[in-house]
Amino acid sequence: MRNVLMVVSGPSGVGKGTLVKRLCAEREDVVESVSCTTREPRKGEIHGREYYFISMSEFQRRIKEGDFLEYDEHFGNFYGTPISFVREQLKTRSVVLEIDVVGGKIAKEAFPECILIMIAPPSLEALKGRLISRNSETAEEIENRLSRLEYELSQASSYDYVIVNDDLETAYRDLNELIDAEKLKA
Ligand code: 5GP
Repeated sequence: MRNVLMVVSGPSGVGKGTLVKRLCAEREDVVESVSCTTREPRKGEIHGREYYFISMSEFQRRIKEGDFLEYDEHFGNFYGTPISFVREQLKTRSVVLEIDVVGGKIAKEAFPECILIMIAPPSLEALKGRLISRNSETAEEIENRLSRLEYELSQASSYDYVIVNDDLETAYRDLNELIDAEKLKA
């Protein structure tokens, strides 16, 4: 079986983080890439687990050194995927990147064989509710995230797969089966 590079994208609050965390906790053959970001850690986030929280000057130095497979700016902060981590892990396991649609497209250009998976909400209203109840962003941040929703979802057609997260168990099963099938590809 081959190891695959997968990109999981979807609007903020859609549940992609929950799906990816569970996938990596339950499967030894899949590991999540840990991105670098210049944003402040949220409550409960740990350096090296959710992200590597680095300064803007370090981020810029690493851009110059070509250390990011892709990077982008969101809400005034930078996010990037360290290329060295991905290459090393792919030798032994499949790697999943949880990144936005712009990053996904860049990753596809750099790694044409990578698989783009979109996690979509059953409805915009459902997603709004989830985002507000998560209670980890200010009202302004929530507005920013909501205004990006439509764009993220409009990119679904350029993705290889779309999983609708209506029921978490069903979405998780879909994701697992998709990976198994991709790993079996000739
Ligand atoms: P958050 O601040 O909510 O953790 O993430 C904000 C956005 O940044 C999300 O849409 C997330 O998918 C995206 N993101 C996280 N890591 C990366 C990365 O390495 N590259 C890119 N392009 N986007 C990322």
